Amino acid sequence: AKALGRNTFQFYTEAMDAEARQRATIASSLRKALERDELRLVFQPRMSLVDGRITGVEALLRWHSAELGDIPPSVFIPLAEESGQILRLGEWVLREACGTLARWRQHGLTDIAMAVNVSVLQLLRGNLPEVIAEIVEDTGIPPARLELEVTESMVMANAEQSTAALHALRALGVSLAIDDFGTGYSSLIYLKRLPIDTLKIDKEFVGDITHDPDDEAITATVITMAHSLGLNVIAEGVETEEQLAYLREQGCDEIQGFWLSQPLEPQRCLAFVHTWRPTLAT
Ligand code: C2E
Ligand code: CA
Ligand code: CA
Ligand code: CA
Repeated sequence: AKALGRNTFQFYTEAMDAEARQRATIASSLRKALERDELRLVFQPRMSLVDGRITGVEALLRWHSAELGDIPPSVFIPLAEESGQILRLGEWVLREACGTLARWRQHGLTDIAMAVNVSVLQLLRGNLPEVIAEIVEDTGIPPARLELEVTESMVMANAEQSTAALHALRALGVSLAIDDFGTGYSSLIYLKRLPIDTLKIDKEFVGDITHDPDDEAITATVITMAHSLGLNVIAEGVETEEQLAYLREQGCDEIQGFWLSQPLEPQRCLAFVHTWRPTLAT
């Protein structure tokens, strides 16, 4: 048993070493990704449950590494946060997303919002309002059409500083959304104090609403509570007609997810929004 224990320990150590090495490799490749032009954005539309119109799109970062192949954001975003690279990447994302929206606006898409994910590191670093003000000015987009998404857990872990940062951003006229909502119940009180416009219900909840009565009840409660605070509610990860019907019945304002569309290349997204005809009865 003793020998086995030692072997097991050694096994874990080696596995951890391998993982650490792999993370270091990815982080070092990521450092060159911008210069090598390996990053791009895809855009996922969202739809109003009131009239079926496309109300906005979310910019999602993609990385194809020449050395390592496609690496998903769930892997490289946390690494970029650990290494601080997210500041540089995040600024690139903001610039690219706003530039894309500006081009779409020239093609007549003037009534949709561009949602951009912002890491709490960007938020807490302090110069995000300056960066955003500059990008908004350079691209000429109306600030209210830019919607910044910050995750609930991140904001709550740094509640005081985050709140101050969000106020500074709000003063610029941009919209603010809390992402991945539904995992930290202790935070409902804080929500009232945050200068936000929108709540995005986490896809983990949405995925189960038509099977799990608890998730159904939680989702319904979150929608009611958000509305009582005057917030717009978006459900993410909507994949089925049943989920859509339930959310609509509960008064959820908007949906995003594979039911409507996968994230799309800019050209395809522009075409999608242009040709979309609302099908919901009003
Ligand atoms: P998120 O902000 O919650 O984004 C939604 C994720 O759900 C995206 O994954 C999207 O492709 C996926 N998704 C959309 N519809 C559905 C659906 O119907 N079903 C399922 N199962 N999934 C759906 P993605 O693109 O892999 O991004 C993962 C996460 O990486 C994002 O979660 C976000 O937290 C982060 N991320 C992506 N791009 C950026 C970025 O530019 N900056 C920062 N800071 N984070 C980013
Ligand atoms: Ca998001
Ligand atoms: Ca989310
Ligand atoms: Ca998420």
